[in-house]
Amino acid sequence: MKARQDPPPHPPLPGARADASAYAYVPPQRAGWLRLRFADRALETDFRHYHQQQFLSRMRRSVAVALVLFVLFAVLDAASLPPGVREGVLGLRLGVIVPALALTWMASRVPRVHAYLQWIVGAAALVCGLGIVGIIWVARAHTFALPYEGIILGTFFSYFLTGLRCVPAAVCGWLTFVAYVAMELHMGLPGDVLLYNAFFLGTANVIGSFGAHFLEQATRQNFVAFLQLQQRADRDFITGLLNRRAFSDRAQHIWRHAVRERQHLAVAMMDVDHFKRYNDHYGHAAGDESLRAVAQVIAHHARRPLDVCARYGGEEFIVVWYGVDACQAQALAEKVRAAVSHRALPHAASPTSSCVSISIGLASLLPERDCGLDEALRQADMALYQAKAQGRDRVHLFAPAACTQQS
Ligand code: GH3
Ligand code: MG
Ligand code: MG
Repeated sequence: MKARQDPPPHPPLPGARADASAYAYVPPQRAGWLRLRFADRALETDFRHYHQQQFLSRMRRSVAVALVLFVLFAVLDAASLPPGVREGVLGLRLGVIVPALALTWMASRVPRVHAYLQWIVGAAALVCGLGIVGIIWVARAHTFALPYEGIILGTFFSYFLTGLRCVPAAVCGWLTFVAYVAMELHMGLPGDVLLYNAFFLGTANVIGSFGAHFLEQATRQNFVAFLQLQQRADRDFITGLLNRRAFSDRAQHIWRHAVRERQHLAVAMMDVDHFKRYNDHYGHAAGDESLRAVAQVIAHHARRPLDVCARYGGEEFIVVWYGVDACQAQALAEKVRAAVSHRALPHAASPTSSCVSISIGLASLLPERDCGLDEALRQADMALYQAKAQGRDRVHLFAPAACTQQS
């Protein structure tokens, strides 16, 4: 057996960051205790989207439950309140709170406004809180002793059932608290009673704020765990690139996009030359390192949002370039091939070159509904076969069209 040589030296590689796509790397962030916000803005935006999706149905159902409860309270009011108070209270319940909740429920059914639901549900929760304060105010104005505890119920409801994040829920809760205290001061509630009421309502808000904080923190931790799991499921752990399954999903999506937008796509199948010999010569660990290096170079050339690259198999990689015609694709593929050579990873066992090289099979298509991704992959594979047959360390374009005539 051949003596193995030391692996060729090259700088440390960032592994998973090799692919520059949005989910390439999940920073191991913990949601801070005091600041409920990820330092990374993109991550924070993604979290808000995730939170929205997680809590959408809870929001919808809790708004519906609140609607039913307010209608039931209206029935109770109609049956038990004395005239004068009754009209004012029912006016607020049925004229302000119930319509606000009904509109919010309808908004929650419209996907286009889902991005604003925290604002919309927050506004509805505030209308409910202030509405209940208004109801008590109407009762006080008629010297009718309506229990103020309804505000406490509403406060807990908005903290724990609406699906509001901590800050919007706390803003609603504490604004309602301030409005209540101001109203009671205005109406001249005796100081000792007001103190007790304010203390209870304040305590409800403290409990609500802490509870909502814990809840949001747990949701943030779940989100990070979810991203890490997704990353593990979608990524090849040696190179950090997408694996073949994730590539297939992403590529199908890009393909449909290209069909819709009538854009060209280029599919490049890339294979490291004489890699078996590399492993035999330098060892498997060094082989892994050089796969990482090659992956990094390839990922560097597929960074636009609709480009995708992946590890397709052992020492095979695949790239889909979006909106790139045959000529541009050939130039890009040539750049990748040259960049791998310029990495100058020694490959003493290669009959093709003294450094690690790759062969690239290229297919360029204008996707149509009757020509699928599989056909593009088949063409790229055949072109790769040609590149190998013609001597390796080269790019071969399948069925070259106008481009070859120019070059
Ligand atoms: P060709 O130029 O024709 O592509 O020759 P080749 O030797 O590269 O092709 P072949 O298919 O014969 O060998 C591929 C080698 O890639 C064999 C396998 O040991 C190696 N390989 C596949 N996956 C990995 C991996 O994850 N790490 C390492 N170190 N080697 C791998
Ligand atoms: Mg190979
Ligand atoms: Mg191969």
